[in-house]
Amino acid sequence: MKEGFVYLVGAGPGDPLLVTLKGKKCLEEADVIIYDYLANKEILSFAKKDCQLIYVGKKSKDHTVDQDNINRIIVEKAKEGKKVVRLKGGDPFIFGRGGEEALFLREHNIEYEIVPGITSGIAAALYAGIPLTMRGVNSTLALATGHESDDKELSLIDWDALSKMGTLIFYMGVKNLPQIVDNLKKAGMKSTTPIALVRWATYPEQWVLEGTLENICELVDKMKFKAPAIIIIGEVVALREKLKWFENKPLFGKKIIVTRASDQAGRFSQKLRELGARVYETPTIKIVPYKDYSRLDEAIENISVYQILILTSVNGVKYFFDRLKNLGKDGRTLANIKICAIGPATADAIKEKFLNVDIFPEKYVAESVIESLDKIGIKGKKFLLCRALVARDVIPDEIRLRGGYIDVIPVYETLKDEESRDKLQRTLREEVHYITFTSSSTVKNFFELIGEERRLLEKVKFASIGPVTSDTLRKIGYEPSLEAENYTIHGLIEAIIKDNS
Ligand code: SAH
Repeated sequence: MKEGFVYLVGAGPGDPLLVTLKGKKCLEEADVIIYDYLANKEILSFAKKDCQLIYVGKKSKDHTVDQDNINRIIVEKAKEGKKVVRLKGGDPFIFGRGGEEALFLREHNIEYEIVPGITSGIAAALYAGIPLTMRGVNSTLALATGHESDDKELSLIDWDALSKMGTLIFYMGVKNLPQIVDNLKKAGMKSTTPIALVRWATYPEQWVLEGTLENICELVDKMKFKAPAIIIIGEVVALREKLKWFENKPLFGKKIIVTRASDQAGRFSQKLRELGARVYETPTIKIVPYKDYSRLDEAIENISVYQILILTSVNGVKYFFDRLKNLGKDGRTLANIKICAIGPATADAIKEKFLNVDIFPEKYVAESVIESLDKIGIKGKKFLLCRALVARDVIPDEIRLRGGYIDVIPVYETLKDEESRDKLQRTLREEVHYITFTSSSTVKNFFELIGEERRLLEKVKFASIGPVTSDTLRKIGYEPSLEAENYTIHGLIEAIIKDNS
């Protein structure tokens, strides 16, 4: 039987973008991933669909799986011939028992590779704006454990030597902070030495508590500061005042729900995350192709009768062109028709098909579309509008009123995404700051999905992409807290930033 292979991979400190490229590749190729409490679950999304995920996390005291069992599982899976990733928070060889696991693999003649990760001690300092070494301030740096379960390891530490280091980083030290501080002071470290505790470093929940050796224990009690945290001690900590950057992000720590369809949420969520937010993707809609394409096929076959094609969304573009392709045609079919796009994302999707957009209304609502169509003349012209099954009829009504002809053809449907019901209700209990609505159907479905949980909405702000979505919200009985000036995802993000500043 083919022997397996084990990759001991460092998951980095938390922020999923801080995994190495090699680590990501291992995750993508793994048959089995065995992961810890402090390895961010988000990076498990790199795994193959059929990859087996095994959680062996341990929080101090309630160990889920003990180390012997973890070792046994790794070896067992490898012996089944699997490609195993043993995913560990931070770096596998820094206070993570990675060394023990590697020795165990060696004893069992299992091949392995070790993939470094950014260790949380280093990342915590950087994300807190603390340079670990600084010319003229310090020239040494030490990493130490402040182990919580017993004091054995603490007593093994040479406190005299440690107290002479420029900068100290303690892992697992929150519970034993009083002893750590005491030992350092006894060894001669000044009680005015600055100290910073960084909890959940690199996550939107990052919390930095600053003090001195003198007052830090009192502060920890008062603020109820808890693990997991990194402790950084030394004069360099003072530089944070000038260098802190992560917490200055415009949406730092804000909890935001994204309700748009999952295949469209990506870019929006990513941008919000880059701005520091904790994003919960709970799609309330899903987009499916329309069940009957006979009218669309007929319109495409007879495209020469139309003068103007109107596309109102990225989905409209996608399904229209999918169908065009399905009929064995390409962009040349549209050679003699003018194309009108609503919204920049729709226009970009059309341009990706190597087609120019001829008519691009300034505002991205139906009323503004009519205004720009008026400029080229509506009377006597024939329009083809491809859009969602359920949509407002302002465009067709106004075109007909002005003596134009229009065929309205549904090319996709928006369905309620039932799968989000539980996650949505769970998420709302997390006291989120904003719920974002990017269309009327996200609003309607959101309220249907949350059912009785409306009482959880008291403190939440509703962020609406534009007036039509806002009206839908009002009809349900809620006033939007903010509305985008520019009815795009970008506009919505700007409005949230403004609301938050
Ligand atoms: N191998 C890991 C460390 C494991 S020991 C690494 O290289 O980072 C576990 C300790 O790491 C925790 O008790 C805590 O002190 C620290 N830790 C891990 N991730 C952290 C994070 N995101 N923020 C703060 N501390 C973290």
